[in-house]
Amino acid sequence: MPKDISKLQESSSSLYATVQNQFDRAADLMRLDRNVRSILSKTTNEIIVNFPVKMDSGKVEMFTGYRVQHNNALGPYKGGLRFHPAVNIDEVRALATWMTWKSAIVRIPMGGAKGGIQMDPSHYSCGELERITRRFTFALGYNIGPEYDIPAPDVNTNSQIMAWIMDTYLSTMPAHERNRCVHVVTGKPVEAGGSLGRDKATGQGIVFMIMEWARQSNFRLEGSSYFIQGFGNVGAWAARLLKPLGPRLIAVEDIGGRTYNPEGLDPDALLRYAKKKGGSVAGYPGAKSLSREAFFSLKADFFIPAALENQITAETAPLLTVRLVAEGANGPTNPEGDLILQKRGISLIPDIICNAGGVIVSYFEWLQNKRSEFWPLEEIDRKLKTLITDGFNRVSAEAEKRAIDWRTAAYIVALRHLEKVYRERGIFP
Ligand code: NAD
Repeated sequence: MPKDISKLQESSSSLYATVQNQFDRAADLMRLDRNVRSILSKTTNEIIVNFPVKMDSGKVEMFTGYRVQHNNALGPYKGGLRFHPAVNIDEVRALATWMTWKSAIVRIPMGGAKGGIQMDPSHYSCGELERITRRFTFALGYNIGPEYDIPAPDVNTNSQIMAWIMDTYLSTMPAHERNRCVHVVTGKPVEAGGSLGRDKATGQGIVFMIMEWARQSNFRLEGSSYFIQGFGNVGAWAARLLKPLGPRLIAVEDIGGRTYNPEGLDPDALLRYAKKKGGSVAGYPGAKSLSREAFFSLKADFFIPAALENQITAETAPLLTVRLVAEGANGPTNPEGDLILQKRGISLIPDIICNAGGVIVSYFEWLQNKRSEFWPLEEIDRKLKTLITDGFNRVSAEAEKRAIDWRTAAYIVALRHLEKVYRERGIFP
């Protein structure tokens, strides 16, 4: 449970303004077609559902759930579901829009969507969570679907929750339709139709991005140092996959606090500890605690924000003493933070390419389900590396050509692709 939810809600109320600020900057610079600009500056559908769930006590509680579908010009709407107290329509709009850009940059045939429920899952029993998830799925009805809108895990949701969504959705279908609809969600457990490599996909993609950046910058990862904010699916996988490449993890911050050891923290041991201690790395033996300010001021080669949005801001960006920020989270840097990093010469791999590994392997899971296939992990990793590295190279080439920051370059790559698609297809009628 965040210590200061009201502050979080306040900051996330401007998240869609951040997206629009980024979008306008790129659209002006590239002179995006006026009509395409007005289409992409709006979301297509916004679904808000209020639904009742019976608690273990017998009392009924009302919940509010969201699904925002930004754009489906490239393919079915696609994006995660988040269970968090700060979920609101503005945040979901922003996250849905970023999903459209991600798929366009890595050239997968998916659109952009996002959703969630405003709640703190740690307050509910497993049975209650299952009923909340199933009732939310039922309330969404055919606003989601295997060829229409495909949810996936995000903050505080996981493969178990995806399995419940699939099972509920299939239960609403005629019996003979069920087996051809298992791709209504991705990020499922492998036994229930999931893909190998989906759990680590976002972390794996971040590692491929850092490797490519290191290659282009003649930077040696071996012996370098870094720190991470967020040690959930994305942060913990990124750290575990970086370990064999040789950089030293010196600090981690999560919801429970910060842990620091300049000699290096072992990501696998840290994860085992966090699992034992209810999910947090705080109090890890042999490591020190740090203030938030000291955490952001750590001297290291790179920083991976992998928790929530609006973390690198006018207050924290001046503190960062790193060469690179690799954005694992969605929207961790606000526009003021962005400008400060640029002025200070800190490189940044933006979220819309850096964390696209999740949606890429979700797309692979979707394809495997449609074809009743099961791909080996080596094939998935190889295809992921190709798609995300190609995306990275498109972005870096655009940034170099125009001498602009990488976020704006990533937007231009996405918008140029969407602009072409709209030109070719035209606008109905
Ligand atoms: P998660 O729920 O597995 O982990 C979230 C982590 O953030 C936890 O360690 C939690 O303790 C920490 N955290 C939460 N609030 C915090 C706070 N106020 N300060 C510091 N740490 C805090 O979530 P995840 O799936 O790892 O997602 C993390 C980020 O990555 C989100 O921005 C999400 O949208 C993005 N993302 C996730 C995926 C995916 O495949 N799961 C894909 C792309 C992007």
